[in-house]
Amino acid sequence: VDGVPGKFATLGLTYDDVLLVPGPADMTPEEISTRSRVSRNVSVNIPLLSAAMDKVTEARMAIAMARQGGVGVLHRNLSIQEQAAQVDRVKRSESGMVTDPITIRPDASLQEADELCGRFRISGVPVTDAAGKLLGIVTNRDMAFETDRSRQVREVMTPMPLVTGKVGISGQDAMELLRRHKIEKLPLVDGAGMLKGLITVKDFVKAEKYPRAAKDADGRLIVGAAVGVAGDSYERAQALVEAGVDFIVVDIAQGHSKLVPDMIAKIKANHAGVDVVGGNVATRDAAQALVDAGADGIKVGVGPGSICTTRVVAGVGVPQITAIHEASLAAGPAGVPVIGDGGLQYSGDIAKALVAGADTVMLGSLLAGCEESPGELRFINGKQFKSYRGMGSLGAMQTRGESRSYSKDRYFQQAVNDDEKLIPEGIEGQVPYRGPLSSVVHQLVGGLHQSMFYLGGRTVEDIKRDGRFVRITAAGLKESHPHDIQMTTEAPNYAGR
Ligand code: 5GP
Repeated sequence: VDGVPGKFATLGLTYDDVLLVPGPADMTPEEISTRSRVSRNVSVNIPLLSAAMDKVTEARMAIAMARQGGVGVLHRNLSIQEQAAQVDRVKRSESGMVTDPITIRPDASLQEADELCGRFRISGVPVTDAAGKLLGIVTNRDMAFETDRSRQVREVMTPMPLVTGKVGISGQDAMELLRRHKIEKLPLVDGAGMLKGLITVKDFVKAEKYPRAAKDADGRLIVGAAVGVAGDSYERAQALVEAGVDFIVVDIAQGHSKLVPDMIAKIKANHAGVDVVGGNVATRDAAQALVDAGADGIKVGVGPGSICTTRVVAGVGVPQITAIHEASLAAGPAGVPVIGDGGLQYSGDIAKALVAGADTVMLGSLLAGCEESPGELRFINGKQFKSYRGMGSLGAMQTRGESRSYSKDRYFQQAVNDDEKLIPEGIEGQVPYRGPLSSVVHQLVGGLHQSMFYLGGRTVEDIKRDGRFVRITAAGLKESHPHDIQMTTEAPNYAGR
């Protein structure tokens, strides 16, 4: 089109517009590593994030994701306290050592001890006085035969002296103590008998069961959490940092708004130890603005999501392969990792995103059907489904009873009080039930391994740098999918369209 120069800037391409060109592979499949960076200081063993959506990522999904080697980003459509409590649950779930164990006072009732154990899914708690001195331990075994739940913890606990370890004890020595004394929990104390940590047998078992788990320097699972820019978003970020979150995602639909750099700068100025990711953006300029604001990671995606209607409601967006590539042109030279968020339908899309310039991808619909996503299974005509919805859908933005909806401000509608006046940018629906996350991730990462072998890349960096695309036509896309056959059995990684 002749006319105003640059008015029709580029041709936008998305996943289905391209294929990866095979290249020479001078390695064996075993040499392939899928390790990558989410942000400047947070790494994962598989380049997958679960989306910050209320039907995808709460503590249970985040724990499962980190065990598989990726990471979950906790959604923000809930109160500050609830979101911070979920961070806490992930950080305590599996670790070499719990540095700040849950404790109970000796005058608490067994009823209260029960509730505490239930809430944190633990089998016993150290008993301490107000100053934090270890007095004993109360476990399920102590409580099992007590019918009177109003009795005090001090009456049934196993009192000091207990088998304890010194702060700084090695994993091996701790395991040896647990084994020798046939106990499941080893409280760690300092010279004055103050409780300083706890090591449990369960943590050792899990460490063997999940060898690829993504962990922080203290051996705890890593987790991210989303915040907005409006209202009490900064207080939310503070609470998440206090709860031990590894990175915060300043997450609004228009990431090229000045509000995002402002929030990033504010968080970074006061919490130097935590990484801050900004988004969502879809252009080089917007990515540059986030780099300039000091973002440790950049999340890319305006409108590619499976539940998203932004591109039809607002007519705005950039096809995702082009958006990722554009953002990477600003982020790459600055050493800031890119997250390709939304629009992935198949495992092959992961490598496409990486070759376009992403370091990791964020998944919504591909994970919403997992056992570990929030929400109940639904049976419809004998088939199993789980519900899934956009955070800009009417359902997610509507206020329910006392609790307010926090997802409205992702779509700049925090001031709308009348539900009928909301402008949704997403829909609500359901996806087929997929079973446990571990089997879904097995297929996704298995697919990525295949991609990397075809491309001849040992590392994510290799395929980012050397991978090339071929643009395809509608005929090419038709050829890519199974054709000229009636599918009788779905493959675990292919369900047709
Ligand atoms: P999916 O993996 O399902 O294709 O996309 C998930 C992503 O879509 C999320 O991580 C988020 O960035 C985006 N998203 C979530 N809810 C909505 C919504 O209601 N509207 C829009 N525009 N995007 C959404």
